[in-house]
Amino acid sequence: MKLLEEEIRKRGKILPGNVLKVNSFLNHKIDPVLLDKMADEWYEKFKNDNITKVVTIESSGIAMAILVALKFKCELVFAKKGKSSTLGNVMTASIYSYTKEKEVLISIENGYIKEDDNVLIIDDFLANGSAALGLISIIKYAKANLKGIGIAIEKGFQDGGKKLRAEGYRIESLAIVKSMDYTTGTIEFEEA
Ligand code: 5GP
Repeated sequence: MKLLEEEIRKRGKILPGNVLKVNSFLNHKIDPVLLDKMADEWYEKFKNDNITKVVTIESSGIAMAILVALKFKCELVFAKKGKSSTLGNVMTASIYSYTKEKEVLISIENGYIKEDDNVLIIDDFLANGSAALGLISIIKYAKANLKGIGIAIEKGFQDGGKKLRAEGYRIESLAIVKSMDYTTGTIEFEEA
């Protein structure tokens, strides 16, 4: 998605450790017009898949995912991080947080994803694939039907995308970073 690539070039910041900061439009301050256009792109790609549930992880995924759920006129469920006293019986997975550099427990309440749901996962980044795999394991536990994974920014130089595609999952990334250089601030994208 050319527009997203332009915004990343204009407003993104490359940090040490292969981290791309997009806090000024996606992760902290949010550009709803851009996010709405991103949601349109995913809607086009998955409109024939009868999506009945959008699934993401708090908190960065929620803003994008709610717009996507609105396009499909379905509910969104986001996995909560850590333990919460308001949750009942939960389905859990342990993921390695790329930015926090530690294991984090994610939970979704039993029954919030149903066996007959056609699920679309939405997340902001794909790096090594741990977050996506955690959500996939919960969706499998719920015996729902995973239709695909919509990612805003895939870091193609890390192996999450390769691993997940090799396992047969459909990944639709709106921008794929081929390389980024912290010292020069340059960023290259894969051709769509
Ligand atoms: P993975 O689990 O695929 O290794 O990493 C994906 C998760 O880590 C995303 O949900 C995102 O929150 C975070 N993440 C990974 N790489 C980056 C990055 O370069 N920038 C930011 N802001 N978050 C990232």
